[in-house]
Amino acid sequence: MPTQIHRVQLQTLPVTAKEIADEILNDDSVLSLYRQLQGIDPIRRKSQELQEYSLQDGCIFRGERVYIPPSLRSRILKELHVGHLGIVKCRQLARCFVYWPGIDSDIQKEISACTECAVNAKDPDRVKPHPWLPTEEPWQRVHFDCAQFESKQMLIIVDSFSKWVEVYQLNSMSASKLLECLDECFSRLGFPLVCVSDNAPQFVSDEFSSFFKTNGIEHRTSAPYCPISNGQAERFVQIIKSGLKTDKIGSFQERLNRVLLSYRRAPNVVTGKSPAELLFGRKIRSRISLVLPVKKSDTKLPSNVKRKFDIGDLVHFRLYSGSQKWSTGKIQKKAGDVIYYIRFNNQVHKRHVNQIRKASSSIPNCRDETNFEFQVLNENEDQPVVRDFQTEENVGHGSPSVSPNARHVSPNVSLNDSPKISPNLGPRRSKREKRKPIRFSP
Ligand SMILES: [Zn+2]
Repeated sequence: MPTQIHRVQLQTLPVTAKEIADEILNDDSVLSLYRQLQGIDPIRRKSQELQEYSLQDGCIFRGERVYIPPSLRSRILKELHVGHLGIVKCRQLARCFVYWPGIDSDIQKEISACTECAVNAKDPDRVKPHPWLPTEEPWQRVHFDCAQFESKQMLIIVDSFSKWVEVYQLNSMSASKLLECLDECFSRLGFPLVCVSDNAPQFVSDEFSSFFKTNGIEHRTSAPYCPISNGQAERFVQIIKSGLKTDKIGSFQERLNRVLLSYRRAPNVVTGKSPAELLFGRKIRSRISLVLPVKKSDTKLPSNVKRKFDIGDLVHFRLYSGSQKWSTGKIQKKAGDVIYYIRFNNQVHKRHVNQIRKASSSIPNCRDETNFEFQVLNENEDQPVVRDFQTEENVGHGSPSVSPNARHVSPNVSLNDSPKISPNLGPRRSKREKRKPIRFSP
């Protein structure tokens, strides 16, 4: 059952760089290549082919392509063929990511054996599309057309330069509904100079001509009764339909999304680049991108927290009950860039950086603050909402995770435990009137 095969394929996790590195160690032939490359400086490699190889994170690269060990090749072939792209597109996609000797013929075999592709193969082209002049930059001229598939109606919009395609599923093909979609699309990608469509009654309606006029778009229509002369859109109607025919898992929109992602990230036969690269200047990520090791520097955002405290610093920290707003203690521990644990009077208080300010080192730890603090702890009063602070700036960075339900987090942590959120102070309704946390700004 082809559908079952694809369900398994879609539910299987994609191949990751880590898995590839592990598999290299399990495969004698690839491991010997790895060892060989490890032992020789790239410049001193005699063979031209070996000079193209490099190593990173336990993976072998040929140029920019990851070398896939034999045991993972069949999964990669399935991944390349998601969306049932044709042989040329699959090979071009492979050239951006993966390599092994004989990959091109393996791709051909994989696709030739795909039952769904065979069943849904389209008729060969009989008529040459209308020769529109080539465009020089993205979104200069877009072609649009309507199509119907499995009782669903769609508006398909194509950029003639990048071949980027947008598809809207519609309940109605009225001029106003179609214009709503065009307008939404143009709100994201801007107005094109020229729009091309056929002569469908909606497209030549007053509403359409007024929309184009108002927005400074030239509207050209193809020859009457000759939809093929709007070749760009017509061709993409076929591409989307054949993608949908072969992908039968999930809702119509889910299938459409998969077909669109596959198409948008794959290099185009005419341009040699993916539509995303030509329109946005970047490759878009998909499951196949996981074969590439993640650049370490990409995983952590640079810190934008300017105020920092060191362990042992004397600080004032905010209190949230009683009449006194601030108390004084010493930084005991840091958790990421914004969370600090402050020791005061044999207790540890968890505070966000916005709730702390530096204290002069000459201030003594005065007695009445100590007494006051005991009172606060015993009262077990309502506490500030740490999550709200975290969402405002620099979330994460190793700060302890806070359950979404734990709105009220106990800032008091026993010195003997590692800092953690008190489990018995989960969502709890305070009887006290709630006040907004007052932020200290230096
Ligand atoms: Zn297929």
